[in-house]
Amino acid sequence: MQLPKSWMVIFLDLVFPPRCLLCGAYPGWESREHLCRDCRQGIDFIRPPLCACCGKMMAAGEPGRSHRCQDCLIHPPPFSVARSCIRYDQPASLLLHRLKYHGDTSVLPGLRHIIEQASLAGVRDPDIIVPVPLYPKRLKARGLNQAVLLSRLFYPGREPDIRCNLLHRIRDTPAQTALSGAARRRNLRSAFVVADMEFVKGKTVCVVDDVFTTGTTVSECSRALRLAGAKEVYVLTLAMVVATA
Ligand SMILES: [Zn+2]
Ligand SMILES: [Zn+2]
Repeated sequence: MQLPKSWMVIFLDLVFPPRCLLCGAYPGWESREHLCRDCRQGIDFIRPPLCACCGKMMAAGEPGRSHRCQDCLIHPPPFSVARSCIRYDQPASLLLHRLKYHGDTSVLPGLRHIIEQASLAGVRDPDIIVPVPLYPKRLKARGLNQAVLLSRLFYPGREPDIRCNLLHRIRDTPAQTALSGAARRRNLRSAFVVADMEFVKGKTVCVVDDVFTTGTTVSECSRALRLAGAKEVYVLTLAMVVATA
């Protein structure tokens, strides 16, 4: 006899109680997301006041004209709104690291919890969702694209609208992490192309990625989508790198 799945899960949880994904403690029955209470309370969410455009945290009283940060006032980005859930700091960033570099999908319930608890005001429902693509060789080596998995967590039940083959990465660009802002832009220039411009025309699109550092990657994706005729582009990322003073 086959047990219903929920009973099977309960049985397995009794025999092998799940540990907290971050600290290894046993969170007990109260945690379906496999994070203990202390670790959940320690998650560093992005909190307002935010730049109305790129979503960077601003000092209280700092918002100026249009409530945009200096960067967005001087160089308006090609997306209209970008929002991120947490600061890219440990320990929560370890979940992302395990998914991205070790293909560890057991962290997905923890990431789902973070997304459900985050305040993502300003990003309205898009027509289509576009995960930032990896270069094919890199995708093959890694085995998964974390942006696709995050798209499913951001938009549960909208699988048909998550378009993984609409935007192509046509150059295998070096990792961005060691580059300055200008070098990042040069590195990614013309790295993305839209496969079906007719399909994109007039649509609102949400670009999904794992980390927003300077915004160069999502900006280049947004630029390609706007050039293809997208009406508006939003950006959602799980984490944002926040400079500490
Ligand atoms: Zn914990
Ligand atoms: Zn900004």
